[in-house]
Amino acid sequence: KQAAFRSDIGALLEQVGTGKESLSFMKRRMRRLAAQWASAARRLDDSLRSQWREQKRILVHVGFLTEESGDVFSPKVLKGGPLGEMVQWADILTALHILGHNLKISVSLKELQGFLGVPPGRGSCPLTGPLPFDLIYTDYHGLQQMRQHMGLSLRKYKCHIRVIDTFGTEPAYNHEDYATLHGYRTNWGYWNLNCRQYMTMFPHTPDNSFMGFVAEELNDTERLSIQRNKVDSMAVVYGKEASMWKGKERFLAILHRYMDIHGTVYYETQRPPEVPAFVKNHGLLPQQELQQLLRKAKLFIGFGFPYEGPAPLEAIANGCIFLQPMFKPSHSSLNHEFFKGKPTSRQVSSQHPYAEQYIGRPHVITVDFNNSQEFESAIRDIMRTKVEPYLPYEYTCEGMLERVHAYIQNQVGLCSSPGIPPSPFVLLPNSSALAWASNISTPPSWPPLSALRLLASLEGQSCIDACQSAGLICEPAFYRFVNIKEAFSGLEVQCEGVEAELNHIFPAFSVESSECGLQKDPLLFSCAGANNKYHRLCPCRDYRKGQVALCRDCL
Ligand code: UDP
Repeated sequence: KQAAFRSDIGALLEQVGTGKESLSFMKRRMRRLAAQWASAARRLDDSLRSQWREQKRILVHVGFLTEESGDVFSPKVLKGGPLGEMVQWADILTALHILGHNLKISVSLKELQGFLGVPPGRGSCPLTGPLPFDLIYTDYHGLQQMRQHMGLSLRKYKCHIRVIDTFGTEPAYNHEDYATLHGYRTNWGYWNLNCRQYMTMFPHTPDNSFMGFVAEELNDTERLSIQRNKVDSMAVVYGKEASMWKGKERFLAILHRYMDIHGTVYYETQRPPEVPAFVKNHGLLPQQELQQLLRKAKLFIGFGFPYEGPAPLEAIANGCIFLQPMFKPSHSSLNHEFFKGKPTSRQVSSQHPYAEQYIGRPHVITVDFNNSQEFESAIRDIMRTKVEPYLPYEYTCEGMLERVHAYIQNQVGLCSSPGIPPSPFVLLPNSSALAWASNISTPPSWPPLSALRLLASLEGQSCIDACQSAGLICEPAFYRFVNIKEAFSGLEVQCEGVEAELNHIFPAFSVESSECGLQKDPLLFSCAGANNKYHRLCPCRDYRKGQVALCRDCL
């Protein structure tokens, strides 16, 4: 059946249900952004020119909201607790609904069992019939619940699952045996999924799929009124929980010499002691009122926590400049409590690396806050600089719809056996890169194989960085095509011998020992991996400006 775009969210709102503050928050957001979604749907519909889109049966099981996982979030919605996840789930649900799929939503174990056809009262009875869904979106909590309550059959249905995973999961952590043997075992990883089944909040490692969320878009009238009403000396502090302000008095004092400082810190009766008296604290605001505040403010300033939330994008979209601390050394699961136990080795170079790397100046300024001079001159610069509101395309409704559409229609068979690389294959030098010369049609690939560019990384460099320095992005779906000994000769690498091994660095080679290694297990193909002794073989591809998840010919 063909999926038809929907422009009305009434049915969705009904499906979301009631009874939890988190659900009310999501519904308020859905209502607020409904018009924006509808017009984005019209534009995408036009640009896809009625391309065939299969209607999928989709189950969304929001594990972290279930009582069974403790539902620690709902009670904190009105108290400054994390809202980023709720923002993202609201947007995922809306995108799936607007794209016209057949949606079921579950926020409890009982609903999950009902939808999956597990008889009540027989908790761990494995589901025997065919899975009544093409796709299941859930999170790590939900995955755990499905393992417990679908028993053995989870293995059979694993390919249909997508895991919403804010910070991402790298291949070395996902591979159960490998993680256990090599010290990558954490509380979360080791599910042996195809890593593209993990969907992140920002484009972290391309080993995962980038899901994202949306921020508010402005029309011309709103842009104009923002321009008129900007107050150059008004700053809003990022941090709705008092603890995020702790120990920041020095920075606040400096900032206060130049600007009026506003905050949106949750409090019960009295001003939290962490928030100085010269700060105008509005208390936690409804999303809509926060937007209004951001429209007037010139500066949105972060003090290092929370990491990688939606708020800086909202601020930039409303014409603020985001000032944030650079982390030196970078924060990661090795040196910071917050990331400890998360299934990734990612180095977080500032409070919001996406803002730093994908947006940058003039909208984003990342400095060493401990250098008072630098900090102060950044503030003075910000007060003088005029900026336009800016929102990267991938965070608009149209961008998110386009991306989710592309995943749903093309990311199929993520865990069917990868097949044998096509032959004969020819690798031809093409300036700095190498391109596939032959016209290979089988096995089919998405992204299309024509986008493949093979590079060798520097020693110690990951494929994320190697591709990036060539203006490209690492594409894990292409590893299977370059994991062949001919790739080494194509790059004119001298190999003493070529062995296949379980090692997330491979395919790779060492110049010193003339050792070349291929990857034995496709689950360990990793864009993120790096090792000082090795140059890696990196399958890269082009990407659309503002839509890094998609290549030029991906749609
Ligand atoms: N937010 C809000 N009221 C406030 C402050 C923030 O509604 O007073 C919303 C904001 O619009 C954003 C969401 O909270 O969409 C998440 O914000 P943040 O970046 O702090 O991420 P978190 O740490 O909550 O995941």
